[in-house]
Amino acid sequence: MKTAEIRQKFLDFFASKNHQVVASSSLIPGNDPTLMFTVAGMVQFKDVFLGFEKRDYTRATTSQKCLRAGGKHNDLENVGYTARHHTFFEMLGNFSFGDYFKQDAITYAWEFLTGEAWLNLPKDKLMVTVYASDDEAYDIWHKTVGLPAEKIIRIGDNKGAPYASDNFWTMGDTGPCGPCTEIFYDHGEEVAGGPPGSPDEDGDRFMEIWNNVFMQFNRDETGTLHPLPKPSVDTGMGLERLSTVLQHVKSNYETDALACLVRAAARETGVEYSQSVPSLKVIADHIRACSFMIADGILPSSDGRGYVLRRIARRAIRHGYKLGQKGLFFHKIVADLVAEMGDAYPELRQKQAVIEDTLRQEEIKFAETLETGMALVDAALAGGKTAMDGDTVFKLYDTFGFPVDLTADICRERNIAVDMDGFERAMEEQRSRARAASAFKVAGNVSYDGADTSFHGYSAHSVDAKVIALYKGTEP
Ligand code: ATP
Ligand code: MG
Ligand code: MG
Ligand code: MG
Repeated sequence: MKTAEIRQKFLDFFASKNHQVVASSSLIPGNDPTLMFTVAGMVQFKDVFLGFEKRDYTRATTSQKCLRAGGKHNDLENVGYTARHHTFFEMLGNFSFGDYFKQDAITYAWEFLTGEAWLNLPKDKLMVTVYASDDEAYDIWHKTVGLPAEKIIRIGDNKGAPYASDNFWTMGDTGPCGPCTEIFYDHGEEVAGGPPGSPDEDGDRFMEIWNNVFMQFNRDETGTLHPLPKPSVDTGMGLERLSTVLQHVKSNYETDALACLVRAAARETGVEYSQSVPSLKVIADHIRACSFMIADGILPSSDGRGYVLRRIARRAIRHGYKLGQKGLFFHKIVADLVAEMGDAYPELRQKQAVIEDTLRQEEIKFAETLETGMALVDAALAGGKTAMDGDTVFKLYDTFGFPVDLTADICRERNIAVDMDGFERAMEEQRSRARAASAFKVAGNVSYDGADTSFHGYSAHSVDAKVIALYKGTEP
């Protein structure tokens, strides 16, 4: 079954259960300063869950464009390394706004996945997790659905647990949240990885496909949970992961939607098509993220969303360089993406020229310094060094436009540690210099332009300060 058919089948299923089919919203959340990007299907319904907004339906279903490349939900570093993570992906969802709750959510999910008229997946390949204390969800899986006890794993909210699993879903630091139940597909023994909640759960064997969140609370800035006006349901299933299951492959990059882009990446970098070259998968993933971001109105810049776009684009370009492609190539893959996804997302077709042009400009800009920057990296690491010093990381950033996560990406490939503290010190010195310079300008009454570079410089750096925090795991 092709990805487009799977998407349609999902929407048809929930339409048959009286859900309103709602179009995907933009990657830029409307009216929500707490979120940089749309990270899940529920984002466009946030105010409905909170009771601030009323719609003329209480059940909805969507296929939502999502981006997880910053903030609490960030999969940028996973891309190319796992078979199942993207920066941009589509999330299939069904939502109940104070209508049905746990019982219907779980039985709908099971009917869609295993019902003969729908996906007809083999039941013995599926297992689920429930929130540790959620006996109600456990009983629905066990007694109503009939799932054997050994296929139901209880998982808490990951406070101090050595594994990453977490069955309490939160949109961000604040906002709607609640306990959840997740459905996993077992790829079988030949794929490495353990079941959810085990120390090696990060492998690709047990792939999480669907999260059903029982939205019950709003978390405020202090972390306090306030009950929502009505218990609700928010679910999310990765379309690419579902294609992996239904197309009987082991990686999202082997499905129809992604394989054509891996192929295009190979063509444009002049290497042979292969699923075992991480750089090709990085490029395939990043062309989707960059194109959809530009289609939604984001342009590369030194700040905010535009800086995330720049980081993703430069990361892709560097992976092309790594494969030996030193000319412009990235923007040439846009046409392949438009051919694959332009029917489902007409904005891609409408904005094709802008997307190509923007990415081409970014390639030209970065090409000017990529080669010299890479030579600096090689020189800095010559002689078997095991760490990259902070001054070099800063120079790469400041002079050659290597965002800090791009340098980290290069170092990770070579098993080299990055001196983030040293980088931060160099950045702080730069900030003090900028502050001193702008103070001097004002004090000296030199014609001072309020929109001067001193401001831009500072805000660009504050973005990197966030990235550093991410790397050090100190981001709240
Ligand atoms: P994972 O544990 O695999 O990182 P998650 O628990 O972070 O996934 P949720 O926030 O529960 O993901 O999102 C709901 C669903 O969206 C997941 O079950 C998965 O199918 C899909 N999904 C999440 N992140 C990604 C991603 N980076 N790329 C592709 N699909 C994703
Ligand atoms: Mg995740
Ligand atoms: Mg998970
Ligand atoms: Mg999850």
